[in-house]
Amino acid sequence: NELLARARTQIRKRRYTDHLRDNVQHSIEAAITDALTGLHNRRYMETHLTTLAEQAGSRGKPLALMVLDIDFFKSINDTYGHDAGDDVLREFAVRIRKCIRGIDLACRYGGEEFVIVMPETDLNVAGMVAERLRRAIAADPFTVDKGTKRIDVTISIGIATLDNKGEPISDVMKRADQALYRAKRDGRNRVVLAAA
Ligand code: GH3
Ligand code: MG
Ligand code: MG
Repeated sequence: NELLARARTQIRKRRYTDHLRDNVQHSIEAAITDALTGLHNRRYMETHLTTLAEQAGSRGKPLALMVLDIDFFKSINDTYGHDAGDDVLREFAVRIRKCIRGIDLACRYGGEEFVIVMPETDLNVAGMVAERLRRAIAADPFTVDKGTKRIDVTISIGIATLDNKGEPISDVMKRADQALYRAKRDGRNRVVLAAA
């Protein structure tokens, strides 16, 4: 009886600490993950971007930064409703994941804007990846409202790379943003590379 009682106490203790550990793990994941898409969130990306840029600099490797924005997303919401818009964002994240490597860092930067950081990738290669991504979105309509409707979606992408040593990563981000702006202005559904 003594043995049984002690064993039961120990098992109960163990279950409790397991439960605590799962809770902590869950909180950590929630703090760095975007709940809607399961991609990393902006905070996580901003924390890691500096490190990735430093690594690229010290190893003499390029680093590409891609900013993606869904075209006319407001009118998708207005036409099909906010839930359909959310469906599009989720499916968009799935397609992004299929097009990039494990070491690439994809995050939902805000609203319908996404950022992908690609280590050891120059402007040429990043351009090819972006073009593949653009086609992966435009080629197949998105299914929304539990599969009852199909919507054509396109994206615009701006890309810049960290080449000249010492350039702050925030400047690279600005150049990628300006390239995205040009992609929008030139008619959307396109990729624009920022001059290095
Ligand atoms: P553009 O081609 O110039 O990018 O046009 P746009 O309509 O995509 O641009 P705009 O920035 O005006 O619209 C973004 C919209 O995204 C507005 C906002 O209501 C919507 N949005 C932001 N976050 C979410 C979200 O989590 N879910 C849904 N359904 N919509 C969102
Ligand atoms: Mg948009
Ligand atoms: Mg936007």
